[in-house]
Amino acid sequence: EVDEPQVAATSTRLAPIEEVKSSARQSKRIAAHSHVKGLGLDQDTKEALPKAAGFVGQQDARTAAAVVVDMIRGKSMAGRAVLLAGPPGTGKTAIALAMAQELGDSVPFVPIVASEVYSAEVKKTEILMRNFRRAIGLRVKEKKDVYEGEVTELTPVETTSTQLTGIGKTISHVVVSMKTAKGSKQLKLDPSIYDSILKQRIEVGDVIYIEANSGAVKRVGRCDVYASEFDLEADEYVPMPKGEVRKSKDVVQDVTLHDLDIANARPQGRQGDVSSIVSQLMAPKKTEVTDRLRAEINKVVNEYIDSGVAELMPGVLFIDEVHMLDVECFTYLHRALESPISPIVVFATNRGVSAVRGLDTKSPHGIPTEMLDRLLIIITMKYTPDEMRSILALRAEAENVKMEPDALEAMTRVASERSLRYSLQIIAPAKLSAQCSGRETINAADIARCVDLFMDRTVSTKKALEKQAKH
Ligand code: ATP
Repeated sequence: EVDEPQVAATSTRLAPIEEVKSSARQSKRIAAHSHVKGLGLDQDTKEALPKAAGFVGQQDARTAAAVVVDMIRGKSMAGRAVLLAGPPGTGKTAIALAMAQELGDSVPFVPIVASEVYSAEVKKTEILMRNFRRAIGLRVKEKKDVYEGEVTELTPVETTSTQLTGIGKTISHVVVSMKTAKGSKQLKLDPSIYDSILKQRIEVGDVIYIEANSGAVKRVGRCDVYASEFDLEADEYVPMPKGEVRKSKDVVQDVTLHDLDIANARPQGRQGDVSSIVSQLMAPKKTEVTDRLRAEINKVVNEYIDSGVAELMPGVLFIDEVHMLDVECFTYLHRALESPISPIVVFATNRGVSAVRGLDTKSPHGIPTEMLDRLLIIITMKYTPDEMRSILALRAEAENVKMEPDALEAMTRVASERSLRYSLQIIAPAKLSAQCSGRETINAADIARCVDLFMDRTVSTKKALEKQAKH
């Protein structure tokens, strides 16, 4: 018995959410903060604890950040932004990341440096807009009719009637046999679904579900153990009731508005289909995300939100070295902050009074007064040697590095004399130095060696100036 192809892909206005790859937190840039797990608050008083969640010290700033997080939750940050002001390496980025973490697990955190907006090819405001949309998360919850069961057979049925993917193959449809409660059920699938099965390397023995409407395929595990059925309290695995056809399932996916922009701007067409790849090359700039496309996406997203299908998760857009933004960027940001869908913008600076780019005036932190008026300003302070020692120890642990006590003392001295940043940078080469000597644990000599090998910013600037003077 073969069912009719009720599992056929239908065209929706947005690219299927399942195919949108989420980029909620950009991992490379936040690797330096992997030890940070939140603001480290006392759950009752909401004040920052001296040492918690990977944070050490900087309690006033962390407590202030916690107040902002509460304001965000209470939706009273609309139209406002945050400025973290303090010397380099005093945890401004770490605090902004922790704010995003406090707001929720999948809340986006997008760190940029203001100078990134200047590019020869792309307009400043376009770059700002892109990052704005990266920092706005969307949790899509849908109840979907799905077929779920163990794949017992994967049989591509070849005919010559319909042209399909794959080199030189034409397949009209694919039959997947799934064992179900009522016995074996055969689903006749649209060929594009088979594509998805191939891409995800789904094999016989996998447990998958296939959405009835969109035909999206997802692997949920192997047939012997079903992850979500694993009972942590019990001492044994609870096997999944095999081969059930479920009628309805909550499907949750976190994406950002930028993910949706890109997925929908991507030239449609099947991968591997040579003729369509060529035609995409010929087509003028199909991958561009236009204002029209964004407006369209906003419309659909608003419909999703109104109908309860999706929930907005505004994240944190962190803009370091804010004095590098010019007046045009500030005007743009000013407007963008007013929008009902806006992330929390956290600026950071280590500047005092400086020139506003594009204006003849000077202003605190190089920020025009209209923007300053909207800012909640949080100050970060320099660390004491004890605090630096604790931070260095936390980072060494996060980087899986062992240190002799005198190595940690040497690093703390380096941090006080030069900078915490520099001292943190030395951890990785010091580990290599130890390994070269056949050790796994860093000692004080490794630190001394690396300090000799690598200059810090002040020494390197001094040397450059000396050299310049000689010429
Ligand atoms: P910049 O001036 O370059 O923007 P910053 O103020 O943003 O510097 P971070 O990059 O946040 O400083 O901090 C440097 C490093 O020290 C990071 O690895 C960060 O996670 C860590 N760090 C800073 N402050 C703390 C703290 N209070 N507790 C634990 N780790 C910290």
